[in-house]
Amino acid sequence: MSTVTAYAATSATDPLSKTTITRRDVGPHDVAFDIHFAGICHSDIHTVRAEWGQVKYPIVPGHEIAGIVTEVGSDVTKYKVGDRVGVGCFVDSCRECESCIAGEEQYCTGIGMVGTYNGVGRDGQPTQGGYSGAIVVDEKYVLDIPDAISLDAAAPLLCAGITTYSPLHHWNAGPGKKVAVIGLGGLGHLAVKIAVAMGAEVTVLSQSLKKMEDGLRLGATDYRATSDRDTFTELQGRFDLILNTVSANLELADYLKLLKRDGTLVELGMPENPMEVPAGALVFGRRSIAGSLIGGIAETQEMLDFCAEHGVAPEIEVINPDYINEAYERVLASDVRYRFVIDISTI
Ligand SMILES: [Zn+2]
Ligand SMILES: [Zn+2]
Repeated sequence: MSTVTAYAATSATDPLSKTTITRRDVGPHDVAFDIHFAGICHSDIHTVRAEWGQVKYPIVPGHEIAGIVTEVGSDVTKYKVGDRVGVGCFVDSCRECESCIAGEEQYCTGIGMVGTYNGVGRDGQPTQGGYSGAIVVDEKYVLDIPDAISLDAAAPLLCAGITTYSPLHHWNAGPGKKVAVIGLGGLGHLAVKIAVAMGAEVTVLSQSLKKMEDGLRLGATDYRATSDRDTFTELQGRFDLILNTVSANLELADYLKLLKRDGTLVELGMPENPMEVPAGALVFGRRSIAGSLIGGIAETQEMLDFCAEHGVAPEIEVINPDYINEAYERVLASDVRYRFVIDISTI
């Protein structure tokens, strides 16, 4: 085992603080790497504050992890020392169920995907995430970061990037398709960039027009305020696909009517309350409402390669680890354009 420095939460209410954790010895199929950058995802905050269920403290969050390989196990074939690699939201799964075999490990029906943090590894130990100096992960769950993407920008792609790429890909966003993105935050700004790179025509639906300049700069061709009732009359029947990147309960009757016949509204977040779905808005127009959770390992690699090829990268604010607690408050206040990334070299 090795000891590494980390930032951990020790309770649901205390701020994160500096500590040390252990990482397992490098097994035959393992890759060990020094973490250079870790993104801050809204899920990190929900989890450490026990808003999504029980947590075993101390917990080290972080599932947008990028770094450089320092050691590989004897049977590792995909990676070598010095490679630029990343890890996203999970570090293992059963590898045998239909979902795992299909490369959709995030929907594993065996043991379920093993979270990068707040999960339990095969060694029976709690998994600990990316706000730490190094990590050891089975090579099957490690991603290759293309040279064209800097390591700090790569980190947010591993959760926010794949969370938006997967549904865009699954529902065939591309030339001739009209896509709306609800919310221009960490997820939303990447959804816009990726959908535009896929060739779709993109509209941002935001509460206000405050970030309109940014939205248009990122490639959206239209930007509307949802606080303006005219938005919902003017855009009726407009979209093939709507991605909801905001974890808030929407007035679904309004949003579903923005879809064309056979259009789909995809929920990417988890609103606190059950959704009220007016059946009429689905029946008239054969519309669908769906959900989507991150993406599998193969698709995450495809997303990284796509972003490298199309020059897609998140807009980030790089911070030092001692700023994590302030960064959390700013994430909760939507005061970040558009993702915090922790520079782990200063940990
Ligand atoms: Zn995340
Ligand atoms: Zn499985």
